[in-house]
Amino acid sequence: MLPNVVQLALERAHVATSDDGYVEVDERLRTSAEGIWAAGDVTGKPKFTPLARYQARISIKDMLDGGAPAADYSALPTVIFTDPELAAIGVSEREAEEQGLDVEAATHELKTTRARYKNVRHGLFKLVYERDSRRLVGLHVLAPSASEIVAGYAVAMKLGATWTTSRAPTTRTQPLAKA
Ligand SMILES: Cc1cc2nc3c(=O)[nH]c(=O)nc-3n(C[C@H](O)[C@H](O)[C@H](O)COP(=O)(O)OP(=O)(O)OC[C@H]3O[C@@H](n4cnc5c(N)ncnc54)[C@H](O)[C@@H]3O)c2cc1C
Repeated sequence: MLPNVVQLALERAHVATSDDGYVEVDERLRTSAEGIWAAGDVTGKPKFTPLARYQARISIKDMLDGGAPAADYSALPTVIFTDPELAAIGVSEREAEEQGLDVEAATHELKTTRARYKNVRHGLFKLVYERDSRRLVGLHVLAPSASEIVAGYAVAMKLGATWTTSRAPTTRTQPLAKA
């Protein structure tokens, strides 16, 4: 899918684009042209509504007072609304290895009490974590409400959660939604 930017004549505004037509932006969504920002699908980042909104918030803050944080895409939750949902955050084992990370993964079948109550027969949780530090770098969930589960982990991963700290500091609701 290519960005629909031809009519915008970006070259006349000195807005640089990549070879495949995406608008090039820095970490605060600034383009190569002074006073022009870009956000959303047109930047070539993963194409999701929450990501477009996240970029929009950063760019607006940057243009109004310059104090915007740099965009960080490391804890981006995604979901495919199949039944059950397939949701993920962070990287897969393969992506982690491509980034030079030394990782392990733990996979659990969905065998929770709540799943049994709801007669859900299929599901999977997979945690990807750095071997030494045990820092979580990916979570992949195939389960009912998987999107809500990974959303919670987005906060945990952003705060540097490890395999241990993601489970220890609080109790869970009962019956459990996840493994
Ligand atoms: C079928 C489908 C399903 C999707 N499902 C999901 C989902 O479940 N979850 C999710 O997170 N994301 C989903 N997405 C992706 C999501 O829709 C996009 O990532 C998001 O809309 C990007 O926002 P945006 O503002 O960058 O672009 P858009 O929402 O496309 O907005 C761009 C706007 O610019 C306007 N425009 C274009 N050219 C010009 C011009 N020359 N002058 C003036 N206006 C112009 C367009 O009319 C449009 O209104 C889906 C996308 C598709 C196509």
